[in-house]
Amino acid sequence: MDISVDMRSVYEEERPRLTDEQALLEATRCLECGRDGRPAPCIEACPTQIDIPGFIRAIREGDPLTSARLIFAANVLGGTCARVCPVEALCEGACVLTHEKRRPVAIGRLQRYATDAALEAGAAIHPRPRQTQQPLRVGVVGAGPAGLACAAELARLGHQVTVYEARPEPGGLVVSAIAPYKQMVAPLPQEVEAIRALGVTFRFNTRIGQDVSLATLEAQHDALFLGVGMDGDVPLEMEGADLEGVWPSLRFIERIKALHPPPLGDQVVVIGGGNTAIDVAREAVRLGARHVTVLYRRTEAEMPAFRHEVEAAREEGVQFEWLTLPVRLLGEVRVQGVECMRTRLVPDPSGGRPRPQVVEGTAFVVPADAVIFAIGQQPRTDLLTSLPSIRLEHGRVWVDENFRTTHPRVFAGGDCVNGGGTVVEAVQHGKLAARAIDRLITPRRRTKPSPATDGKEDA
Ligand SMILES: Cc1cc2nc3c(=O)[nH]c(=O)nc-3n(C[C@H](O)[C@H](O)[C@H](O)COP(=O)(O)OP(=O)(O)OC[C@H]3O[C@@H](n4cnc5c(N)ncnc54)[C@H](O)[C@@H]3O)c2cc1C
Ligand code: SF4
Repeated sequence: MDISVDMRSVYEEERPRLTDEQALLEATRCLECGRDGRPAPCIEACPTQIDIPGFIRAIREGDPLTSARLIFAANVLGGTCARVCPVEALCEGACVLTHEKRRPVAIGRLQRYATDAALEAGAAIHPRPRQTQQPLRVGVVGAGPAGLACAAELARLGHQVTVYEARPEPGGLVVSAIAPYKQMVAPLPQEVEAIRALGVTFRFNTRIGQDVSLATLEAQHDALFLGVGMDGDVPLEMEGADLEGVWPSLRFIERIKALHPPPLGDQVVVIGGGNTAIDVAREAVRLGARHVTVLYRRTEAEMPAFRHEVEAAREEGVQFEWLTLPVRLLGEVRVQGVECMRTRLVPDPSGGRPRPQVVEGTAFVVPADAVIFAIGQQPRTDLLTSLPSIRLEHGRVWVDENFRTTHPRVFAGGDCVNGGGTVVEAVQHGKLAARAIDRLITPRRRTKPSPATDGKEDA
């Protein structure tokens, strides 16, 4: 395999930047919908409710900076979301042009055009923070999209925020898991710099629950926000799972994002039916695998992955084996194949999705040089159960309409609440939780910070 050729394609951007001319032309296609107090359908479909016709108008008027400020006012990761949002299922899917069977306005690419222009010019993208008489001291656990959005909104509202992050860098899954052809890292570092400029303090390499207990953190702050996301892949429990060439999806993607993609060979089998399974299949194609097959135990209709992603994978040559249950991985040292059984769907007695049932006598083998499994992420139960007053439901943190947990001073949002969603949803959770903290929490008597958290700032 000529890796240098294939490497280019896995890192080649799927939604490249528009030129000035292209952006102006595209901006003129927007009809500026929204009349009689009703917002445009694209705004209603955006979880952070960005003023989409407004920012497109500013581009048309030759003012990308004003456009970017409108975007960042609603979504502090507006540049990242321009690259990674599933726009086909959100704003662009709702665009009136789509309903008229025309190509929707390229909202994502216009958003990228404006936010890139502002970030590259080093322009101030956030207004000055509000002056507050009695600022709250808030601890944010996790510097993923949810934590970053919560921290930024609290700082804008004039509060003192410290973000505690286990890893040496911010970004969460954006840095380690999002497909490289959507986003490697940029523009996240500039977005984080703008959040730091609002006065937010970051303590990296600080794992809460290990370096500092959650209870200590709770005692030191007026309120906490948990944006800890989900943990690693659910392990594949079947014979042969420890053979060489078998990869959990997140470790596989992390290797690609670190510019060290693992050697795959010609035949790659992907196990799973969610967006991560589709991502790794598309990455394997871009890395040069000749045959990439996704195995899923139900039918296409039950697949949780976005339709447009499944379609894109199919167009790129990914094959699908529906109603297929892998039962054993074959091989001596390195994996050579996956033994599978056909399934049929039977009704779920508790009213859930139809259940796959193995059809006896249907065993067959799919040859494989590498197997990547993407069957879900595990909850971070160890940390989350360390404060017994926080209720979990099916491994997710339970929150009310204010993103408040069952502990009155602890709020949560993002993947640890919804079990795995999108960046834009995590941003909205963080933003709304910050506003609720501002409304519902009053400052308490200050305590001295424990030495355990000192000395690690910005490490
Ligand atoms: C493979 C994959 C591809 C994806 N692709 C897309 C996509 O294209 N578009 C999209 O919109 N969404 C995508 N998503 C989903 C998206 O990445 C997540 O919904 C989003 O990142 C959730 O943000 P979060 O802040 O809740 O969690 P995370 O991004 O997981 O961030 C959590 C942060 O908390 C930190 N942390 C955890 N425990 C501790 C602790 N004890 N102490 C301190 N810090 C801690 C972690 O290190 C991490 O930085 C994808 C997800 C995956 C897995
Ligand atoms: S729905 Fe489409 S055409 Fe209407 S305002 Fe939004 S982007 Fe413009």
